[in-house]
Amino acid sequence: MDSGSKHGKAATERLYYDDAFLCEFEATVMACEPAAGRWHVRLDRTAFYPTSGGQPFDTGRLNDVAVVDVSDEQGDEIVHVVEQPVVSAEVHGVIDWPRRFDHMQQHTAQHMLSAAFIELFGFQTVSFHLGRDISTIDLAAPSVVGRHLEEAERRVDEIIFDDREITVRYGTAEELAREGIRKKVEREGVLRVIDIEAFDRQPCGGTHLSRTGQAGMLLIRKCERQKQNWRVEFVAGFRALAAARGDLAVLRGAAEQIGCGMAELPQMIGKMQEERRASQREAKKLTERLAELEAADLLATRAQRSTDGGRDIVSTVLDDAAASYLAMLAAKLVANPGVRIVLASRGARAIVLAQSVGLDGDMGALLRELLVKVGGKGGGSKVFAQGSVDDAAAIGAIINAARARLLA
Ligand SMILES: [Zn+2]
Repeated sequence: MDSGSKHGKAATERLYYDDAFLCEFEATVMACEPAAGRWHVRLDRTAFYPTSGGQPFDTGRLNDVAVVDVSDEQGDEIVHVVEQPVVSAEVHGVIDWPRRFDHMQQHTAQHMLSAAFIELFGFQTVSFHLGRDISTIDLAAPSVVGRHLEEAERRVDEIIFDDREITVRYGTAEELAREGIRKKVEREGVLRVIDIEAFDRQPCGGTHLSRTGQAGMLLIRKCERQKQNWRVEFVAGFRALAAARGDLAVLRGAAEQIGCGMAELPQMIGKMQEERRASQREAKKLTERLAELEAADLLATRAQRSTDGGRDIVSTVLDDAAASYLAMLAAKLVANPGVRIVLASRGARAIVLAQSVGLDGDMGALLRELLVKVGGKGGGSKVFAQGSVDDAAAIGAIINAARARLLA
């Protein structure tokens, strides 16, 4: 359906089709209409690329007015979205060239990367996304491994360093099929094709470089499974430079912190991890020994006989012990027969009640009962219970209440 003629509007002449390096142009304003707080401007001709085929729109200016979005209406008319109305009948358009050139580097690199995956392994590209920082292609392949990525990357960089010519050609699907087009096309009429000298030919409406060398370099950054496909992340041109610079800064920063050369980082990190594991093992051993000694000391100096004389009650408050240390200390204490204990840590706001096996009474029930009064949470079994309070100031009261109950 020819929607353009239905609305009485003429198709916009796309200047970027035949000159992707055109960044300034003159045009006649066909319409400027308000739309959702902005204006939609239609021109007779434009060098602005509208979002399509995975490539984002161009930004720039029409006279003094900033172009903030460009879209392709029904593949026919191009709409320039601007924040103020364009008042004159004629405009001077200027494309934001660094942004456009970056898109051309990424998009042309994508054609080369897709072609390399087909040439080397027969992997077809099923989609392309040109993002703000990185670009991706999705490959239909049984599996993609490091060797595939390295070989495809190397092949693309060979083609870049060959500095091959890139041309735009036009032809019908049959004509192009005879000449060996990459993608099968079923569209009618004349197609636009991007031809990379003796390497790739692919129908595309995007803006491309005129020589492969302008892509500078391609780097593959990542590859991961994406549903039934494989998503390959890549950067080219200035983005490859920025990525390499960024990696170097990260490595140099890490090497400076560790105090070694960048090349020694993997070995140094391995060594540090080993040292860390050894320190943790050592700390655990020392903590066990400390708990044993502290348990013996508490039993010798702090134990109070219960009123009926049947049990030793040990209670103490530690300033900064972790809850795990309290539990360890409790286990050492109640390994002795006939002992009941009340331990707390102000720093951890933690409480442990425990007793030797064989004594009657229920530590879990007692702790829950005491915690209800001060606001806290916890519980446990008859022989071991632990909990915590929100406010460290409640520790003293709860310890005194517990001791009084256990001494009785
Ligand atoms: Zn393309």
